Amino acid sequence: MKTMKVNVVTPDGPVYESDVEMVSTKAQTGELGILPGHIPMVAPLEIGAVRMKHDGKTELVAVSGGFLEVRPDTVTILAQTAETSDEIDVERAIRAKERAEQRLRERQQENVDFRRAELALQRAINRISISQGKL
Ligand code: ATP
Repeated sequence: MKTMKVNVVTPDGPVYESDVEMVSTKAQTGELGILPGHIPMVAPLEIGAVRMKHDGKTELVAVSGGFLEVRPDTVTILAQTAETSDEIDVERAIRAKERAEQRLRERQQENVDFRRAELALQRAINRISISQGKL
């Protein structure tokens, strides 16, 4: 089966590199599925999972926004943060989720940044789901 190289990189360095048959993820415009030979493009990403398919298996990487760039035979994902499912510290994500939920409950108070807490909650839920093999 045809494959393409996929790289996931963050400001802290590379997180994932492999040859895969398909990459799918959530772009801001909707679900995106990339196969080898896809036309070059750039798409902004949401907080979500990047799914890499190879040899009948799917690997998941959690990303919290960024860009996906398709070039001939290469897909590069430039993410704000990225973790493979086995790198995710679930306890930490659960604590982050609880903190964010607490902030959202206190949203009547002036000093709570609602959008920031909402995004922190989304990142935490995304990490928990991916560490459980979901998405
Ligand atoms: P926290 O409040 O726990 O720091 P956060 O969503 O605010 O969570 P980020 O700012 O998205 O954290 O990420 C900061 C760094 O920590 C990044 O390098 C990211 O990959 C890493 N990171 C965050 N949460 C986790 C986690 N649950 N497991 C592993 N790495 C994590």
